[in-house]
Amino acid sequence: MSEYLQYIGIVGKYILGKREPNHLKKKKIVIVGASFAGIHLTQKLLQQDKEEFFEILLIDKNEYFEFMCTNTKSLVDETYFDRTTLKFTKLRESFRSSNVIFKRGKLVRVSDKSQTIDIEVPQEQNISTQNILEVNGKSGQANINYSKVQHIQYDFLVICTGFSYSQPIRGPYDGKTDLLSRKESLTNTKEQIDKAKSILIVGGGPNGVEMLGNLMQGLQGKGKKLGIMTRAPRLLQTMPQQASKIAEDHIKSQGGFVYVNTEYNEEIRAELNYELVFECTGYNFDHTKNYMQGELAYCLDSQTRQIYVNEYMMVTNLNPLEEQSTFDQNGNDKQRTQSKVFNNIFSLGDVCLTRLNEEKSIVPIYYYTDVIVANIMSMSKKQDGNQQKLKTVPEVIPRFYVIPLGSENGILIWNDFVLSGKQNVLLKNMIEKLTMGQLNNSRIIDGIMKVKDISQSAMFWLFSIRPLQCLPCHERRAKRRSNPEERKAIKQKIKELESIQTQIKKNL
Ligand SMILES: Cc1cc2nc3c(=O)[nH]c(=O)nc-3n(C[C@H](O)[C@H](O)[C@H](O)COP(=O)(O)OP(=O)(O)OC[C@H]3O[C@@H](n4cnc5c(N)ncnc54)[C@H](O)[C@@H]3O)c2cc1C
Repeated sequence: MSEYLQYIGIVGKYILGKREPNHLKKKKIVIVGASFAGIHLTQKLLQQDKEEFFEILLIDKNEYFEFMCTNTKSLVDETYFDRTTLKFTKLRESFRSSNVIFKRGKLVRVSDKSQTIDIEVPQEQNISTQNILEVNGKSGQANINYSKVQHIQYDFLVICTGFSYSQPIRGPYDGKTDLLSRKESLTNTKEQIDKAKSILIVGGGPNGVEMLGNLMQGLQGKGKKLGIMTRAPRLLQTMPQQASKIAEDHIKSQGGFVYVNTEYNEEIRAELNYELVFECTGYNFDHTKNYMQGELAYCLDSQTRQIYVNEYMMVTNLNPLEEQSTFDQNGNDKQRTQSKVFNNIFSLGDVCLTRLNEEKSIVPIYYYTDVIVANIMSMSKKQDGNQQKLKTVPEVIPRFYVIPLGSENGILIWNDFVLSGKQNVLLKNMIEKLTMGQLNNSRIIDGIMKVKDISQSAMFWLFSIRPLQCLPCHERRAKRRSNPEERKAIKQKIKELESIQTQIKKNL
């Protein structure tokens, strides 16, 4: 009898399997880039996916996760690197789900037509050198490294490949991708720092200021000359004025040098004569090996090389910052004929350009993740005839950033509100410890992080409501985009300058 029931079960399952409606089939979500954006998105998808509807493939070119937000500390603190890095094979355990698989590989091509991506997977082969190389009649073993291209199919693709930075903030984009090599390169940089009598940081943004703050703290009393240079009129130019003042005062009070309105070039280099120079001038997008090919190549911003996304976080060829005129001069609907939205390819994190053009940091990732999760859920579960309800990006996203200036002082920026003091350093340390604890699969910290996420959302919500609009930390103050009139005026000014330039050239 039981065998009979089992048989009915198998046949029934087979028939049901065959007839399984499209909207009930498991969907494969491929997420490329397993840093803050990729990991947060995976966590959120798992939380929402109660019916185990998704298979998630998380891909990264690196072997490890690195808590990048404070990593220049490892240049002066021996133990820091090991505390803030984690191999993905270990990190995967923190998802506690067999529906998540991690794969190491570098994205080299995205195809929207075949819904596949190509990744280069590093391979290592141990070969005997017999018949290839013999030294004094002896042969031996050797490891050769090469990469193999793999094709991967997706139902939904989310590109979270971030930016690449110069050393020491991040290893070179095309360099070695294992944890040991990264540690060795930081040790080399540390040795250079120890030897140098003078060090200059070029770039006065948050990364440069934080790096100098860490160096000043770690190299205190060693008699080194330390300086920071920016071509902008002040440090932290995109942040409120008060933040710049705190940073500058702190650096000067510690005996450091601040050079503003100064472009770093050979002349300046010779004049100031710093022995060691670090470039912290911001980020780069992958320029050389562009994985956005074919029609997707038109979805890249010509200057920043970020990926355009629309209000649903879907990749598009329309620049989200430009006012789109729907009709051309012949009255044809331009949007229909020229615009293209890749509705199963999303992008998240530093790599994408949204209509808010927000400063890149962790908080926007939280907001945009919710949009992507909601849209993937609604698109994958849609039933024929049902209207899809898609979620759009919010109007404003709060700015929340902490810049430690060593271990005794730091700057907290919350929209237009600025606070200095040691408590900010402690706050960032706590965030780092909680994040690493959660990724190390600590259940207690996982619980604390969930409470933290809820209270953080509540806090941001509270400071977005109208009655609190007068406060400097109110959300409206985070708006970064200029209004259309301002943009028009800037465009006009650029045109004027260009015509003056042409005139001068003609006269020459
Ligand atoms: C020094 C420093 C301090 C910071 N401090 C703060 C702070 O206090 N608060 C804050 O909110 N933000 C801070 N930030 C910004 C924050 O770190 C970034 O916004 C965040 O890292 C963005 O995450 P992401 O996942 O989009 O990209 P990333 O962190 O850049 O990660 C991208 C991932 O994609 C992988 N990848 C890249 N290309 C490929 C490819 N072709 N194939 C496969 N994988 C690929 C990379 O290996 C990497 O793991 C700081 C940044 C720096 C550099």
